[in-house]
Amino acid sequence: AALSATLAGPQRYDVQSYNFLEHLALQWLKQLLGLPSALDGVFSSGGSVANLIGLGAARQWACEQRGIDASLQGLESVTKPRLYASKEIHHVILRAAGVLGLGRRALITLPTDDGFRMDVDALRTQLRRDKADGCTPIAVAASAGTVNTGAVDPLSEILEVCREEDVWLHVDGAYGGFGLLDPAVAHLYEGFAAADSIAVDPHKWLAVPLGCGAAFVRDRGLSARAFALEPAKYLEGSLCGAETIRSQFDDVGYPFYETTVEHSARSRGVTVWAALKEMGAEGFRTRIIRHNAYARHLAERVQASPDLELLAPVTLSICCFRYVPAELRGQAGS
Ligand SMILES: *Cc1c(COP(=O)(O)O)cnc(C)c1O
Repeated sequence: AALSATLAGPQRYDVQSYNFLEHLALQWLKQLLGLPSALDGVFSSGGSVANLIGLGAARQWACEQRGIDASLQGLESVTKPRLYASKEIHHVILRAAGVLGLGRRALITLPTDDGFRMDVDALRTQLRRDKADGCTPIAVAASAGTVNTGAVDPLSEILEVCREEDVWLHVDGAYGGFGLLDPAVAHLYEGFAAADSIAVDPHKWLAVPLGCGAAFVRDRGLSARAFALEPAKYLEGSLCGAETIRSQFDDVGYPFYETTVEHSARSRGVTVWAALKEMGAEGFRTRIIRHNAYARHLAERVQASPDLELLAPVTLSICCFRYVPAELRGQAGS
């Protein structure tokens, strides 16, 4: 039992090999996605929490820019916080706005183009108007693959607006982030790696067991300030009188609990490590290319059929269509 606890204990404890594998899996994920190795990563229960962590870091950053430590002081003195996303954004972003105390109404939903991608001109106009109106932009949340149609927002153009307006760019790539492995669509992800925070879900396209998301944040200090745990008497590193309690394990392992909303957690990253070790980057690339090709093939079949109608362009592995018999075509409501 002692041996298995040492080998396979939860990621929370620094001295176990699974803590190391968790770290290695995060490094491999960054390599797979072409992200800078300096990004700080942490695993989560899924995309909901990964998005919450990214937006929590954004909230901390935007408020610190204005001299406010949001984690400590709350949002009392933050005027009209705003989040920006397209109307196609996943609804967990709305919940994150609620949980982070911004309020669900802080989410400004922007229109999209014919391909269900964020209208960047609308974003620019709205941001400028809101800033002039005294609002506090917290982040733009872009989609790298919406769950509705698989649309990838114009990330490089959004990044440009974010840099111009000095606003944090968060990218929700929970479903579609891994789509960039397909060379046929990789160009759509230009700007992805330069985002300030990114959420991905290995439990979707990487096919690991459910309960595994990951968040990447450009500045570990920010997520640590947003989510840090105060010292606790029972933990090493805490103060005991004027003395810090020390142990020989203090500098061993990675304290993942400092940059997320969880304290104890199982070693989710080990499944990612194992999947990547077994399949390799090329294995996943092949799989993702195949899935995207299935969706394009389906779209061709739909377009060739007199009774079916394609409802959205196919970008990734999603193909939206409906059944419209020829005699009902063009009628009101069809
Ligand atoms: C699945 C998904 C989420 C939510 O992630 P969970 O893993 O279900 O918590 C958020 N955003 C997008 C784009 C998703 O595909």
